[in-house]
Amino acid sequence: MQAVHVTTTITDTLTCRHEPACPPAAAPNREAALTLVCYPEQGWSLLCNGVVLFDDTGELLPDGEVVAPRRPTDPGQGTSTSAA
Ligand SMILES: [Zn+2]
Repeated sequence: MQAVHVTTTITDTLTCRHEPACPPAAAPNREAALTLVCYPEQGWSLLCNGVVLFDDTGELLPDGEVVAPRRPTDPGQGTSTSAA
């Protein structure tokens, strides 16, 4: 039996074994990377390239950079946004 090593730090030490390889965290299409772990109850998932993708489309990059959400999650959260 082998003990499973749990990665304690989310860094670029992650190795992508997908084919084709997932886009790196620095790529514009980083969200296209496959999801490694998903925590819908917590509202985030970890992509293969180390990017943490949040429910509201916000992102946390492996280098600590935060990307602001680009889309509203729930239309009609108090504000009346009428999309014409
Ligand atoms: Zn991958």
